[in-house]
Amino acid sequence: AKELEDVLNKYIKYSPIFAVNNDLASVEELAQAIKEKALFLVYQPQVTISDREVVGVEALVRWKHPTKGMIPPDYFIPMAEENGLIAAITMFTTKTAIRQQGIWRTQGRNMRMSINMSPKILDDLDLPSKIEACVKALGADISKLVIEVTETALTTNLALYMDILARLRMKGFGISIDDFGTGYSSLQQLIRAPFTELKIDRAFIRNIKTDKESYTISKISIMLAHEFGMKAVAEGIETEAEWNILKQLGCDEGQGYWIGRPMPPEEIESWIKSWSA
Ligand code: C2E
Ligand code: CA
Ligand code: CA
Ligand code: CA
Repeated sequence: AKELEDVLNKYIKYSPIFAVNNDLASVEELAQAIKEKALFLVYQPQVTISDREVVGVEALVRWKHPTKGMIPPDYFIPMAEENGLIAAITMFTTKTAIRQQGIWRTQGRNMRMSINMSPKILDDLDLPSKIEACVKALGADISKLVIEVTETALTTNLALYMDILARLRMKGFGISIDDFGTGYSSLQQLIRAPFTELKIDRAFIRNIKTDKESYTISKISIMLAHEFGMKAVAEGIETEAEWNILKQLGCDEGQGYWIGRPMPPEEIESWIKSWSA
């Protein structure tokens, strides 16, 4: 019972699912939250599927509202995109994630760090240099940084977007195509973009065992990734059965509740111990 309570507490603390869903926060409150540092990051582990090695984490932003509890990023990120606050949030997440990576490195853990970047922010040709400057100032290793972008973004302002991704890639960042299979980009666009990693959306992983279509889409995504020199990463792995299917399909890496939930940085070390045990 104590164990269950601990689990539930953790869940309530770090999972946005438990947030009050109506009457969510306003833009003013979000601006205030950024100023008052009410945003923070949690980190979800990514492991190799062949040998369960911990290779990196994805940084996920959280907002703890003083009275309303946790506000989900699926709610406030789109809001921030519409109201120009996304730049400030991205600055915060990038710096925080890179700093955390540095802390882990000094502790002897050279972790890859994946950071989500909204397509709305990738519309400025100076951005790659700005991010690079930030990374250098913080003494981070660019080759251990991955920028996750969504496929949907490929349809708007395409030439500029591709140019920015190419510049980031040239500077040494990994580029990951997030939520693969849910957007509308053409195969040609996908192949021309400098992606190093393809993330199969959790909508397919969730149904991989029961639904032939999801299974086939996952399988083809993995083949496609490998054919074009990308790593395939499955997100949202919730069961051992899903893990086993992905293993059989040759998926390189996995992420999901079955492996580890998004957690505050100080919990990573003990998670690694239990995962490796
Ligand atoms: P995403 O990039 O696709 O991130 C994965 C989401 O799936 C995360 O939700 C994660 O907590 C959740 N997840 C991970 N494993 C499982 C699982 O096994 N089962 C289920 N059901 N869910 C799982 P989260 O943290 O609520 O983030 C939602 C979305 O908000 C992200 O989707 C991303 O698009 C956006 N987001 C989060 N953090 C940031 C950020 O720092 N910047 C930007 N621009 N967007 C962010
Ligand atoms: Ca992501
Ligand atoms: Ca995703
Ligand atoms: Ca998503």
